[in-house]
Amino acid sequence: MKNSILVLALLYSLSAFSQKTGSNSYKIDLTNVVDDRVKVTVDATLTKLGNSPDGKYRFNFPATIPGTYATLDYGRFIHDFKAFDASGKTLKVSKKKNTYSIKGKPAKLEYWAEDSFDAKIRKNKVFEPAGTNNQERRNFLLNAAGYFGFFEGLEDLPVSLEVNKSPSLYGLSAMESYSYGNTQNFYARDYHHFLDCPVMVSKPDTTSFMLGGAKVTIGVFTENGRELSRDIYKQVETSMKAIEAFLQGDLPVDNYAFIFYIKDHTEFESLFNGSEIKIGTIFKALRKLAGKGFGALEHGNSSVYYLPDFGGTTVLDGMADVCIHEFFHILTPLGLHSEEIGNFNYIEPKMSKHLWLYEGITEYFAGISQVKGGVITKDEYLTKVLKGKIRSAARYPTKKMSFTEMSENVLDKPYKKQYGQVYQRGALIGALLDIRIMELTQGEKDLHDIILTLRDKYGPNESFNDDEIIEEFVSLVHPDLQQFFDSYVTGREELPIQSYLAKVGVEYDRNYVGPLIAHPVNDNDVKRSRLIVGQKMTIKKVGKNDFVGFKPGDKVSILDDNLFSGPQALQPGETIEISVLRDGENIQLPYIVRTVEGTKSHYIREAKDMTTAEASLQMLWFSN
Ligand SMILES: [Zn+2]
Repeated sequence: MKNSILVLALLYSLSAFSQKTGSNSYKIDLTNVVDDRVKVTVDATLTKLGNSPDGKYRFNFPATIPGTYATLDYGRFIHDFKAFDASGKTLKVSKKKNTYSIKGKPAKLEYWAEDSFDAKIRKNKVFEPAGTNNQERRNFLLNAAGYFGFFEGLEDLPVSLEVNKSPSLYGLSAMESYSYGNTQNFYARDYHHFLDCPVMVSKPDTTSFMLGGAKVTIGVFTENGRELSRDIYKQVETSMKAIEAFLQGDLPVDNYAFIFYIKDHTEFESLFNGSEIKIGTIFKALRKLAGKGFGALEHGNSSVYYLPDFGGTTVLDGMADVCIHEFFHILTPLGLHSEEIGNFNYIEPKMSKHLWLYEGITEYFAGISQVKGGVITKDEYLTKVLKGKIRSAARYPTKKMSFTEMSENVLDKPYKKQYGQVYQRGALIGALLDIRIMELTQGEKDLHDIILTLRDKYGPNESFNDDEIIEEFVSLVHPDLQQFFDSYVTGREELPIQSYLAKVGVEYDRNYVGPLIAHPVNDNDVKRSRLIVGQKMTIKKVGKNDFVGFKPGDKVSILDDNLFSGPQALQPGETIEISVLRDGENIQLPYIVRTVEGTKSHYIREAKDMTTAEASLQMLWFSN
């Protein structure tokens, strides 16, 4: 009781200090697109600007926005900027980078915003999910940074936006909004919240569903007019249920929007279904696709996707993976972040050191939640997801820069190029950290518990100190965890993949040399044609050490890869029948499974003999 009174008193005094008197009020007219540009009006009387000591008022467009980790300079897209005083007189304006300096107190601003989708720029191209699109009567992607600036120091004022649009279009956003006729009004807590809630204005193709008490909406615009929201829902449904189970029904949001812009590339369909492959089509495809920022960007209550449609079901392939990743960002950084993100500096952005937490753990949770929820098997997780991460992570220069150094400097060379490792090495850091936490707490806690504890403490509106979070994290687990951060996160040591996976009963070798199950064709003393026709390969020559009994001309049905690794793998001494078409007749040749000395890179498999401790940690790792 005492505590809550104290908190109330504190809240009261805080709100008295930060009393909000004005608001940022914008109008945008989407009914009149001229040269890919739309007109924006700012009512600066509502901002209640104080008196500037030097008589200048600075109106800024963001240099970048959270989550993109790249310089975007949105000021480049603003044209014909005009400022007027209360009597309607034009004020002098000068521009430097993303900032307009206005001489005298403005009452009204007017300017035109060009879209980034069609802008002919090469340097610091805007990643499409953070970009803007002005396509009359069809689609507008309003990432606020590309349209709406702010007066320096007034980012905390509430925001209102009035959109003038055709009545057949509707703006989908996580922001509160009201629509009537040609107008839709949006409201945000402050400028940060406004930028965190992109709006896509288009003809509605939406599907909604409930998840852990939250209303989730999938909204889609496709350039070719395909209705996809229902198909996307079906594609992500089981994965979303797995997330719900992983979060134990405790979703930190009550509404969420998946916003999709689907680019039409069906002209290249033949490249994907193999019906006709022409060099010309390939070159055309490469030219058209080069520099396209296919991908997604996360926000607190929404995420924006810019994905290609190559015809057929290609647009849905892999859709679940990217949706899960973005959705998990509601934990980090959106529910747990440092000052650098919480109080984002749009003019001179400062990056946080903790991309291992924001991107690494998000990507790790995206994968592990799917095993825990039964969407993929433990073997698929190990041999596909985890192995893929290990293989790609090995390409990054651990010894040259630590993960935290890379994060902090990610806007600059040479760190910029190393950003991609957040999804590989970052996810592996998540996996190993999870294992170490379970080990140190004897299964009492896991990574998910620690993240939730921190999320409950900080949440979307409080920020942690960038220099103190590791210490706090360690204090929630065990003092020995400090060494993990010192060596692998802030330090430059190679990740201890083999020894850590061993703790959960998984064997891993970077370069394995030893017995492997012999493939009856590939590891045999026979030569086969390289071409596989109708799922069959033809034996061309048979050597004297052949151990199956092939004859030249035999057509051998190809064998399932799972027979050679994973839990269904063959055991030495076992006999299997191999189907062979010989002289037009189907026959079966018995193969007594043998081993062959061989090498394999990044060989990962479940250990045959596990200690009880290893087995129980493995069980914890793979279940919710
Ligand atoms: Zn991400």
